[in-house]
Parts: sequence; structure tokens; C-alpha cells
Amino acid sequence: MALARTAVEALAPDQSALTAAAGLLKAAKWPVRGRAGDIDWGECQGSGANPYRVAADMAGGGAKCTCPSRKFPCRHGLALMLMCARNEADFTPAATPDWASTSSDIALGAAYVTATITVWDADPRSAAERQRLAETTSQGRAFTCRRETVNAIRS
Ligand SMILES: [Zn+2]
Repeated sequence: MALARTAVEALAPDQSALTAAAGLLKAAKWPVRGRAGDIDWGECQGSGANPYRVAADMAGGGAKCTCPSRKFPCRHGLALMLMCARNEADFTPAATPDWASTSSDIALGAAYVTATITVWDADPRSAAERQRLAETTSQGRAFTCRRETVNAIRS
């Protein structure tokens, strides 16, 4: 069971997100696509080295993504849901990867929190260890982590 295209469009936070999503509806942009039950997921190749990981709840109508967008759902989530609405068979049935997890945290209306944890240490190895601890703790509570360097903080 998948949401209809019009229902996905109604979830868009604004027109620009929808327009951006329309530019992502090419199979080549999504080297990884899978589904299990109502959860569809994919990896979208953006401009960065690592693809964005996107998961959508096609029953409840919600999506989560590892991109830095503050829009909810973001262009990637919208694109994933639009592709699924167009042809669910494009998504290969598979076991849900850990990062796509359960639908509970991607359902529409779920609390959406963005927090920054800054670790600082004169010793780079010690800083890396603290960063790893912060990530492990956050991920243990099902938060998505995005690692940034000093350059990202300065920009
Ligand atoms: Zn995104």
C-alpha cells in the first residue's frame, strides 16, 4: 500500500522542496532502493562523498533523511515517496537496514530535533574518542548523527 502522488505532494513543506524533489526522480540518483512492508528506503547520491540515507513510511506519510535540510520532509524524503507512489516495484523487497529502523521515528508529526554536540580537546585522538562516544550514545537512542569537522563549524 503506497500513498498516492497527490498525497505525497500535500506533505511538501513548500513548493521549492517539491520542485527540488522532482529533480531527484531519476533511478541513477538512487543506487540503493529497498522496501519492507510500509517502509521504503534508499540512498540518494548528492554532491557530497556519502549518499544521503532516506527512509519513508508509506502508510503514515513521513520520511527521515541524513541531509542537513531543516525542511520536513526534505527533498529527498519527498522524492523517495514520489518514486514509491509512481512504482513501488522499483523498490526491492529486502530486510530493513538498521538505519531505516522502525516507522516510529519517521511518522509524520514525530518530534524533530536537531542538536549540535561539540567536542573539543587539545589532543586530536582524545577529541576523536569523545566524538565517537557522543555518536554511540546518540545512536543508542535512535538519533541520527552527522559528523562535522571544524571547517563545518566555522562556515
Ligand atoms: Zn534529505
